[in-house]
Formats: sequence, C-alpha cells, structure tokens
Amino acid sequence: MTRPIEALIHTDALQNNLARARAAASGARVWAVVKANAYGHGIAAVYDALKAADGFALLDVAEAEQVRALGWRGPILLLEGCFDARDLDACSRLDVWHVVHRREQIEWLAAHKTHVPHHVFLKLNSGMNRLGFAPAAYRAAWLRLDALPQVDRIGLVTHLADADAAVDAGSDGASEDPHALPPSVARQVERFEAATAELPGERSLANSAATLRFAASHPAVRGDWVRPGIMLYGSSPDHPAHGSAAWGLEPAMSLRSQLIACQDVAAGEAVGYGSTFRSERPMRIGVVACGYADGYPRVAPGGNGAATPVLVDGVRTRLVGRVSMDMLAVDLGPVPGAHVGSEVTLWGRATSGAVLPIDEVAAAAGTLGYELMCARAPRVPTRVVP
Ligand SMILES: *Cc1c(COP(=O)(O)O)cnc(C)c1O
Repeated sequence: MTRPIEALIHTDALQNNLARARAAASGARVWAVVKANAYGHGIAAVYDALKAADGFALLDVAEAEQVRALGWRGPILLLEGCFDARDLDACSRLDVWHVVHRREQIEWLAAHKTHVPHHVFLKLNSGMNRLGFAPAAYRAAWLRLDALPQVDRIGLVTHLADADAAVDAGSDGASEDPHALPPSVARQVERFEAATAELPGERSLANSAATLRFAASHPAVRGDWVRPGIMLYGSSPDHPAHGSAAWGLEPAMSLRSQLIACQDVAAGEAVGYGSTFRSERPMRIGVVACGYADGYPRVAPGGNGAATPVLVDGVRTRLVGRVSMDMLAVDLGPVPGAHVGSEVTLWGRATSGAVLPIDEVAAAAGTLGYELMCARAPRVPTRVVP
C-alpha cells in the first residue's frame, strides 16, 4: 500500500471562497491570485474552480504558461512584473499583463520589439517599502510609459502593508469595527490617491484582508480590481481577530493521513525525539504518517501545555512530542475507538465534516496559514474532489 497521506483540494470550497471575494468586492473585478503554485494547492487543481474569476494574478512566466495551457484566455497579471528583458517576449506571446515597479523594467520595454502593445500596471510604493516607485517619481514613470509605442494601457497599483491590522478599540471600550481603516492603511491610500490624481487607468490596491474588510465600505480601497489570494484557499487573513468561518470561508485543502501505529504509554514515559513530552498518566498514543518532510511544521508544539490541534476520526485532539521527518504522535484519549488506519486530519475538513482551520494549526506553530499551505511537500499528492 502507498503511504496514506494526501492533500484533498475541495472544488466546492474554492468556488464558495471565490464567491465570497466577489461579493466583498462589490462590483470590482477579481484577480484570483495563484502564485506559489496556487498557495501550494496546485494551479491545475484549482483552475476549474477559480476560472469564474476575471483574471489570474501570479508571479512568473512558467505559471502564466500553465494557466494559458489550461485554456484560460482572459487577463493574466505578473504581480512583480518581468524579472529580465526576455520575460517581455513571453508577455507578448502569451498576452500577459505585467506590473512595472522599477526603472529598468521601463527600459526593457522601450527596447522590446513587439507588434502587440502591452497592458502594464505601474506600481506605487505607498509606504510598504517593498516594490514600487516613490510618490515623487511616479508621475514621471507614468509619462515615460505613456510615451512608449510598446505600451497600450497603464493601470495603477499599490500594495497595503497592514490591511490585516487591528484597529484599537476606542477608550470607551466599544467593540472594534473590522471595517474601519487602520491608520497605516489610510495613510497608504491617501498617498496612492495623491500620486494617481487625474491619471487615467484602472486601480488595484486590495489583497484578501483589504477586500474582506474595506472593499465594500471604502471605494478608494476597492478600486477597479481586487487581488485576493489567501481567502480563496479558506484561510482568514486576519486570524485570530476573525476566523475563517466568521468570513464565510471554507478550507480548500485538507491534509489527511492515517494512524500507522498505536502505543500504550505508562505514566512518566516519554514520546518522540528529545523526550520532550512525558505522560502524566497512562495514555494511548497514535502515530501518524505525516512529518516535517510533508510540510507539517516541525515547530508545532506537542506538550502538556499548549499543544497543536489535530482531528482523529473527526474528533479534536492534540499533538504529543516532537514532529519527526515522517511521523508525528497524537493523544488518542478523546478518541478511544481509534485504531491503525483511522483517519487523521492535520488541517481542513475530516470525512465526518468536522473542520480544523489551518489558521489554528498555524497559530499553534507560531506562523500563518499562508506558510503551511505553501509548504505542502511535493511528496504529498493532491486529489481534487467536488
Ligand atoms: C500575494 C499578493 C496578493 C494576495 O495577497 P493575500 O494576502 O494572499 O490575499 C495581492 N497582491 C500582491 C501584490 C501580492 O503579492
């Protein structure tokens, strides 16, 4: 028998989450962000569910080629633009739109031979200080692009650093309004508005957090295109302030395995490498075919205090001991009927329908759902289910 681990990709969840993004976008068009191989889900695995989007946003030419090969004829956007001048040939050939965030990318365009003028999005660094032209250089970059015969349309884009940030509740203790703009977001939006004032072109600012929280109430954040990524995959962009269920999101990936052994452990015995876990009373332990070489985080705690949640036969229990390369151990106390072959859901949806949000596992491990889903190892096969 093959090793019993797989990542189920839930078509219905992807469709639901895309519909949530579309509803939140209140009329703006929706880029489905499928960079990083669709956040670890596999571009081919999510394509059918996400092709109801208005476009696909991704990182490199290979991903763009894959989306075209799957039959997509609509817009594709390279979120970081071209990495070298040769990428422009692929953009011409595949009709791919691209972000322009630094001067060299404009020079490459000026030297590019093409019969098809390009659709580009000029990026403003509105305060995140990652990519984009400074406000003072933005208009000159726009004018230079506008003068190029290689350029047809110019969209206007920026990225928000703190769209997931909490807004301090008022001193009166009033409960926080998730739709109020955090000050840093307000500042970035102001800078974007000032730098783009009177420039024509479509605007795009919002990732998942900004789409869910601000797109409906703040037209300036909504713009003409929103760029949701993480929410499509069912992870809440502002966990733990709001869980995925609060945003109406469903897990698009279920990482499932099985018990491959059970152990009866006497009180005071240790479990796993380093003997970091010791049982306080006699307990039954299940050994799961999943480890850090599958993308499960090694740092996920399995102590007697805060421990990482896991589902066995759909019942919530916890990790015990350290995560090994190929295995981890779980407490079978809450699941007395569990046996070798019992289903283990590391995150996502169990066969019973019980859900363990990836965000809860990530929080226990001190990281985000983003990192866990992107880290699914190639040795874990994906299976697309309706
Ligand atoms: C990754 C990315 C997004 C999507 O962000 P999420 O937080 O996953 O919604 C949007 N825009 C840009 C520029 C990105 O790089």
